[in-house]
Amino acid sequence: MSLTTDQRICVVGGGIGGLVASIQLAHVGYRVDVFEQSDRVGGKCSSTTFDGCTFETGPTLVTMPFVLDEVFRRVGKRREDYIVLRPVNPACQYRWSDGSRLDIPFALEDVIKNIEQFAPGEGAHARAYLEHAKDVYEMTKDVFIFSPFDGFLEFIKPRNMGMLPKLHKLRFASTLHKHNASYFRDQRLLQLFDRFATYNGSNPYKAPATLMVIPWVEIGFGAWYPEGGMYSIIDGLVRLATELGVSIHTGRRVGSITTARKKANGIVLEDGERVECDHVISNADVFVTRKHLLGLNVTEPKDLSCSGLVIQASVDQADYGLAHHSILFADDYRREFAAIDHGPHNDASATVYISRSVAADTRLAGAERENWFILINAPANGVSDLLNPGEHSKWKGQEQSVLDKVLERLDTFGLQPSIRQYQVRTPDTMAQEWSSYRGALYGASSNSPLSAFLRPRQKSQDIGNLWYVGGSAHPGGGIPLVATSGLLAASLIEQQR
Ligand SMILES: Cc1cc2nc3c(=O)[nH]c(=O)nc-3n(C[C@H](O)[C@H](O)[C@H](O)COP(=O)(O)OP(=O)(O)OC[C@H]3O[C@@H](n4cnc5c(N)ncnc54)[C@H](O)[C@@H]3O)c2cc1C
Repeated sequence: MSLTTDQRICVVGGGIGGLVASIQLAHVGYRVDVFEQSDRVGGKCSSTTFDGCTFETGPTLVTMPFVLDEVFRRVGKRREDYIVLRPVNPACQYRWSDGSRLDIPFALEDVIKNIEQFAPGEGAHARAYLEHAKDVYEMTKDVFIFSPFDGFLEFIKPRNMGMLPKLHKLRFASTLHKHNASYFRDQRLLQLFDRFATYNGSNPYKAPATLMVIPWVEIGFGAWYPEGGMYSIIDGLVRLATELGVSIHTGRRVGSITTARKKANGIVLEDGERVECDHVISNADVFVTRKHLLGLNVTEPKDLSCSGLVIQASVDQADYGLAHHSILFADDYRREFAAIDHGPHNDASATVYISRSVAADTRLAGAERENWFILINAPANGVSDLLNPGEHSKWKGQEQSVLDKVLERLDTFGLQPSIRQYQVRTPDTMAQEWSSYRGALYGASSNSPLSAFLRPRQKSQDIGNLWYVGGSAHPGGGIPLVATSGLLAASLIEQQR
């Protein structure tokens, strides 16, 4: 249990990683202050409201719910007393422009059954694929996800020796696409399993086969959605943080992190106020932290994870035949990723994701309306006034054309939504609002087998008492992983004490 301490911690940014670390550290007696530049915490996990509808800005689905459980369990609370998660069934509906459709249900056995009906013979392949992915997840989770990562040194640690004889299962030398193609003959299923690379902003034709763990965690542990919408996750975390005494300061941008003798010792807010502390945890993008908050001479990550174009639209209610989450696939997936690599990208043939959370909770849309969140992948080429002053924006004035192209694509699938009001968010919006470098969703990409080894760890390697949490640090992006980064940073700080 907790030892009291008079040590103080400043957290830069109130995203999920920052909130989770704050909760754990306040619980063991630290005085914790979170400084968030926006007028509300949550970062990418936020929402907007217009025309009587609530729209998500980032995440729309929860996977690996046991990680959120752990955040609460470690401080003696129960997640369900703060955040109520419901299964999403079907987890997702997939459509192709030839008219074929496949629902991926919540339960694993139903998934296999549906796949077999959709493409006879492929049910057994899906089962074998998921079993392989499950093995890889079980083998690697404590090395690559749930423990502080030591890069290649992990392979010589006695506790990981048992992994060595099974290393071939990771298929390090193969891409996710090649690995998937070794299991599935049906091109639609291949595309469906390739798409999971985009969950961490990667390209399935480049990313390593180890990303096969992503479909496993969604299908094996289920897809979940919180009662009241995704922002209830943040409400639950903020409630717990406040009960534990964390001070949350919104509308306070951190301008710099101060150091003395290579140790972080405080922050300076944009208005000049200086706050001294014993540790600084940065939930801001790692590159931005190092370049802009520490003033270090660092080079821009070469290959960034992708960004996105988001349309939030209130539409008249009608029978569109869409599930809560639906995917309308591109006809030429390889071309779509090539186009993202060579952005700017604003293409009427792209894969379109639609989330209508009204299907899970009718309170999220006004009467006779639906709240559509539409996402297509885009290159990380956004600019922000602060991070790229004077740089030309590729997205300025493109909003109408983004909407027109998406509507054109929806039309191919027989969908003609009657849009009442809409907002378009581009890579610029993501760079501007969250200070995500160039609007990348998760910092550097995971497109190389070395990416996991090169990802910044929680403990800064060159500045003492500075810690990184969030999607651009180990173990990566997505709610469960950024929450894990917060848990890891908190444990490491405690160990150091
Ligand atoms: C379109 C989209 C769809 C997604 N879909 C899913 C999904 O379905 N499921 C899922 O699990 N994940 C999804 N994700 C990913 C998930 O949202 C993120 O990985 C996670 O929310 C990021 O948390 P984080 O801890 O990295 O903090 P962030 O959300 O990046 O927050 C960082 C915070 O720091 C603040 N900040 C930055 N610099 C400063 C500064 N100098 N001073 C003060 N504050 C600062 C920012 O304003 C921000 O609030 C999605 C993301 C996006 C954008």
